[in-house]
Amino acid sequence: MMGNQPVVLLKEDTERESGKDAQKNNIAAAKAVADAVRTTLGPKGMDKMLVDSLGDVVITNDGATILDEIDIEHPAAKMAVEMAESQDDECGDGTTTVVVLAGEFLKNAEELIEQNVHPSVIAKGFREASQKARAVLDKNKIDLDIEDEEKLTEIAMTAMTGKAIEGDKERLAKLAVDAVTHVAEKEDGTYSVDIDNVKVEKKAGAGVSNTELINGILLDKERLHANMPSEVEDAKIALLNSALEIKETEVDAEIEITDPDQLEQFVNQEEESIKEMVEKIKDSGTNVLLCQKGIDDLAQHYLAKEGIFAIRRVKKSDMKKLAKATGGNVVTNLDDLSSKDLGKAGQVRQKMVGESQMTFVEEAKKGKAVSLLLRGGTEHVVDELERAVHDALKVSAVAIEDGAILPGGGAVEIELKNELKRYAGSIEGREQLAVEAFADALDIMPRTLADNAGMDGIDILMRLNTAHEKEGLKNEGIEIISGEVSDMTEVKVVEPLRVKSQAIEAATEVANMILRIDDVVASKGGEEEGGGPPGGPGGGMPGGGMGGGMPPGMGGM
Ligand code: ADP
Ligand code: MG
Repeated sequence: MMGNQPVVLLKEDTERESGKDAQKNNIAAAKAVADAVRTTLGPKGMDKMLVDSLGDVVITNDGATILDEIDIEHPAAKMAVEMAESQDDECGDGTTTVVVLAGEFLKNAEELIEQNVHPSVIAKGFREASQKARAVLDKNKIDLDIEDEEKLTEIAMTAMTGKAIEGDKERLAKLAVDAVTHVAEKEDGTYSVDIDNVKVEKKAGAGVSNTELINGILLDKERLHANMPSEVEDAKIALLNSALEIKETEVDAEIEITDPDQLEQFVNQEEESIKEMVEKIKDSGTNVLLCQKGIDDLAQHYLAKEGIFAIRRVKKSDMKKLAKATGGNVVTNLDDLSSKDLGKAGQVRQKMVGESQMTFVEEAKKGKAVSLLLRGGTEHVVDELERAVHDALKVSAVAIEDGAILPGGGAVEIELKNELKRYAGSIEGREQLAVEAFADALDIMPRTLADNAGMDGIDILMRLNTAHEKEGLKNEGIEIISGEVSDMTEVKVVEPLRVKSQAIEAATEVANMILRIDDVVASKGGEEEGGGPPGGPGGGMPGGGMGGGMPPGMGGM
């Protein structure tokens, strides 16, 4: 040991792992996460059946969902999962890629560590390689125009491949692209897409082919009273965030009633106040009332009498969408409601969908809003459909925003690998080894895609290498459905540039975060806060010497 007397810094029940052990353990954990999801990568990836503690089952091929559903304990593994989640938030796709790549980066890093290359040197090389990768991807990008519906559909289809909806893929991709181009907004020459303006509703009970796009907002609700109109043309919509109910008295008041007249008077008073509320709504010119809170029986009765179409307990998120689309304001105090607050739509009507009634707010006058009504035989089918459509919506949005795509099927990874290897040659010192290790790790994409389809991954890799290096075919990748090595743009396997560049960046970040940890100090004080191990990325390790990222000179070397 260092001094004569050991200095005790940590509580007795603290677990501590330092140096190579800590590194090995963390790397192993991240690799284990990668192994767990890599068999799902690509169109022929397998599905996972996830069963939670209540026995609920989710069957999916979606990396983000798998990582979200499994309970991961290990802090390093958690870091990988968090990174994949942020990839999902930003791009809606490429989550499995992040984890698989991070696993491979770490696997190659481990070999360098074995050869006594210092982890911080590796991390530095990885960072440089990742920056260079961004530039190379940018150079290889293919421009995309928002008018190019066909290309956009191909992007959406690539994102949906392998998600158990093969037969309906093209139709769904078209619907997703239609929805996204509808809500895309142009400003100063660039597009932005808020996919929150695409409302997704799902209803089991009919074939996937019944899925439809509605020009407006769809609410999974029916009008409150049979005497209300079921269809309103030229709708003036009040968006109310307060209840149409008799207010509960605030204090537990007891009202003493001595004769029957008094009771009647009391009831009449309550009735009057409800009547007044409905009167106010009517006076504003409202013919459709969408209320975020409750509407009691009496209020329903009066609203019906006035011929107002009313719905209660509309979700907050829907109220926002409705306000945006119809140009109305959400009003919290009924006394403030005026004609200026009303939203406008060509029509509001109730329609039977499957077993239940839904409300369609169509031809909204102000903003752009569309809804996708997803149909599928069972809940499991519509759930997986929702995940696939989410990916499709997000990738088309990202592609429209950036106007740039790349060939998929491993093509861009091979191109990138070659460029990075050339780049490595220009780097001095041991970092060169790290850049090379990074480049080599990219092979994992085409190899895993092929392996998962039951093909010989190594053989495919060799064929791709020849095509790229010897024949200069930059877009050559492996089309998994046909099993052919070909030009990915011709066989329509294309992805947004952002999905790939973010995935590589995120994977690098995970790998580097894990590489720079040389000390794990876990407090086991079970009682407080679950006593979990030290927090996620950014959260400094208590007590551990990882501040500047310079690990102390590893044991007796
Ligand atoms: P992720 O969660 O990373 O998006 P996926 O399982 O969706 O993982 O697989 C994505 C990979 O599959 C991408 O690299 C993409 O290029 C590839 N891919 C998609 N469709 C095809 C196809 N028909 N042929 C070959 N590769 C494909
Ligand atoms: Mg995907």
